[in-house]
Amino acid sequence: MLLEHLDRKLQALRAQDLSRFTRIAETGTAPRQTVVGADGVARELLMFCSNDYLGLAAHPELAQALAEGARRWGGGSGASPLVSGHSRAHHEVEAELARWFAPHIPQARAIGFCTGYMANLAVLGALGDAEAEIFSEALNHASLIDGARLAKARVSRYGHCDVAGLRAVLAASTARIKLIVTDAVFSMDGDIAPLPELLALAQEFDAWLIVDDAHGLGVLGESGVGTLEHFGLRSERLILVGTLGKAAGLAGAFVVAHETVSHYLLQAARNYIFSTASPPAVEQALLHSLALIRGETGRERRARLQTLQTQLRAGMQALLARHAHLGWRLAESHTPLQPLIVGGNAEVMQLAAALEAQGLRVPGIRPPTVPAGQARLRITLCATHTEADVDRLLAGLEACIPTLSEVAA
Ligand code: PMP
Repeated sequence: MLLEHLDRKLQALRAQDLSRFTRIAETGTAPRQTVVGADGVARELLMFCSNDYLGLAAHPELAQALAEGARRWGGGSGASPLVSGHSRAHHEVEAELARWFAPHIPQARAIGFCTGYMANLAVLGALGDAEAEIFSEALNHASLIDGARLAKARVSRYGHCDVAGLRAVLAASTARIKLIVTDAVFSMDGDIAPLPELLALAQEFDAWLIVDDAHGLGVLGESGVGTLEHFGLRSERLILVGTLGKAAGLAGAFVVAHETVSHYLLQAARNYIFSTASPPAVEQALLHSLALIRGETGRERRARLQTLQTQLRAGMQALLARHAHLGWRLAESHTPLQPLIVGGNAEVMQLAAALEAQGLRVPGIRPPTVPAGQARLRITLCATHTEADVDRLLAGLEACIPTLSEVAA
C-alpha cells in the first residue's frame, strides 16, 4: 500500500519535471569536482553551485587544522553539549564568535549548533512560545519556515522586503513578544534584506529581529563579519544565526545574541539539548577558518568575488540583451549568488542538462523552492573561480540558447 502510494506521488513529481536525484562527488571541492551523474558516468565539472564562497573548503591550512584536531581529539564528541560533548575547541569557537559580534550586539554570547537548519529550528522553536508572534518574510529559507511551524507562536507573513507591509502587521499585533524573522541574503535570489529599516521597525514596535546570515557571513562586511557589519548595525534586539558550512568552508552553525537570549536557548532549545555536539576536530579547524576569514586571505578573496561578480553580471546582461525574446531575467543581486530566472520547470532543467553536457554544473531550482513560473539557474561564484571560468559559463549559456529557443517557441 505504502509503496504504491509513494510511487503515485513520485510519478506526479516526474510529470511536473520536479523529480530530483543525488549526484556523487568522487573528488575535490568547488569549483572543480569529478561527479557521477544520473547516467552513472563520472565527469569533471566546473561548479557554479557551491556555497563555499571563499573557496576555503579546499584551503590546505584547513585540511591541516582538521588533521591536527583529529589527532588531538579523535573522532566524534560522543555526547550532547550539556552532557560531555562541549570541548575546549567548541568553547573557543563560541568565544571568538562573541568577539566578532560584540560591536553589533551588546553583551553578545554565541552558542554552537551542528547545522544552520538546526540553529533556525532552535531559535524559533524556543523563542516562539505561545505569548509570541513571528513575523516571517515571504522568501525565508525552509529552515526558518520549519522553525516557525515548530513554534507555538502565531505566524504572520509579510511580503519580500516589504517594509510597509511589515509595519502594518506589527501595528495590528497584540502579541507581547514580537519576533521579526528574515534571511539576510536571500538564498534563492541573492538580494539583501533591508535590515536597517527592519531594525528601526523592531525598535518602534518593541520587537526583536532574527537574522539568518547563512550567505552573508564571510562574504559581506569589511572583515567578513557579514550583513550586520555591511550595514554597520548595533542593537541588543538583534539575534543572528550564522552557518559555518558555506563561506567558512567546514560545517556547523551558531546563534549569537544578548547573553540572556543565548542562555535561554541553552536551557530550552531541544535540538541543542538532545543532539550530539559536532566533532571537536571540526571546531578546532573552524577556529582557523575564522582567522582566515578576518585576515588577509579573507580580504583578498572578498575582493576577488567582487571582480568576478561584476564580470558575470556584465556578461550576462549583454547575453540577455542579445536574446531578449527568451524573457530571462538576472536577479537583482550584489552578492556572489547570481540567479538567472528562466521561467518554466522543463526549460530550466533542459538548460541545466545542456550546460552539464558542456562540463558546467549550474543547478536548476524549481518550485516549491521558488514560486511557480520562476524556475531559475542558481549561479554561485567562489573566490577560487578564474575570469576564464566565468567566460566559460557565459559561452556555455550562449551555446545552449539555439536548442532551447525551439522548445520555448
Ligand atoms: N539558512 C539559509 C538561508 C540557508 O541557505 C541554509 C542552507 N542552505 C541554511 C540556513 C541551513 O544551513 P546548514 O546548511 O548549515 O544547515
